[in-house]
Amino acid sequence: MGTSGMALDGKVAIVTGASSGIGRAIALLFASEGARLVVAARRRELLEGLVAEIETAGGAACALAGDVSDESFSSALVEQTKSRFGGLDIAVNNAGVLGPMMATPDVTRDAWDETMSTNLTSAFLGAKYQIPAMLARGKGSLIFVSSFVGYTAAMPGAATYAASKAGQIGLMKALAVEYGPRGIRVNALLPGGTQTAAADAMADTEEMKAFVRNMHALKRIAAPKEQARAALFLASDAASFLTGSAMLVDGGVSINKT
Ligand code: NDP
Repeated sequence: MGTSGMALDGKVAIVTGASSGIGRAIALLFASEGARLVVAARRRELLEGLVAEIETAGGAACALAGDVSDESFSSALVEQTKSRFGGLDIAVNNAGVLGPMMATPDVTRDAWDETMSTNLTSAFLGAKYQIPAMLARGKGSLIFVSSFVGYTAAMPGAATYAASKAGQIGLMKALAVEYGPRGIRVNALLPGGTQTAAADAMADTEEMKAFVRNMHALKRIAAPKEQARAALFLASDAASFLTGSAMLVDGGVSINKT
């Protein structure tokens, strides 16, 4: 922590999937803790609104709109970060989609490929370009936003999502070992149910929402800011000995049997 008392004072961070939900909350919290940010997603206007909000509050941010499954976008994101802010310390690869929610034999090859590209290939592409920039700093914190689904729990009709999210955890562990010796910490944040557009899409009736709340030991789902606070911990020097960890921030959904 710098003399300002802010956890990310002087740090430069990329946050993907920052146009809504958990990513947006992470960007706002990181900015309020002193990080300079490059925020990414496809919806440009929402990103520009976020940048304006951060700047109004006295922070520094810029936006790059594009698709995280596109390699040239992942590369451009890091290039823009270096040219605008001089380097990269933290990357939160958060962008993701639920993908096809249906019986597995009904999932088309195209839907499988698209979900794997958005959730898992994007994580690889993010790391591919973010790691060299962190190596240049001699230090870094790389974070993937995965899920409890595919790790501690499974649900029928979510095989594509589960496979993509479990894949991120394998990638995270491999990278933690590969780059630990050179100062880069690599971790995954595994949210439980969190109040976002994605959660609304998954539980679209009041009955389903009540069912989902009840799956959690805390009998509620999280606010996006509760996930952001966990991401802040992983990103900051407060987590200086934390690497290779799949960190559940799940309100007890993984252990609840009531
Ligand atoms: P939202 O739908 O609110 O946010 C998803 C974000 O990802 C948006 O900013 C979206 O922006 C971005 N995104 C999606 N596809 C792409 C793409 N191809 N290229 C660039 N950006 C993309 O969902 P959440 O905030 O809930 O989800 C954030 C992460 O948290 C996801 O990885 C999700 O799997 C994970 N998660 C969420 C849980 C929940 O209950 N909410 C539980 C466990 C994990 P845009 O559309 O503008 O491109």
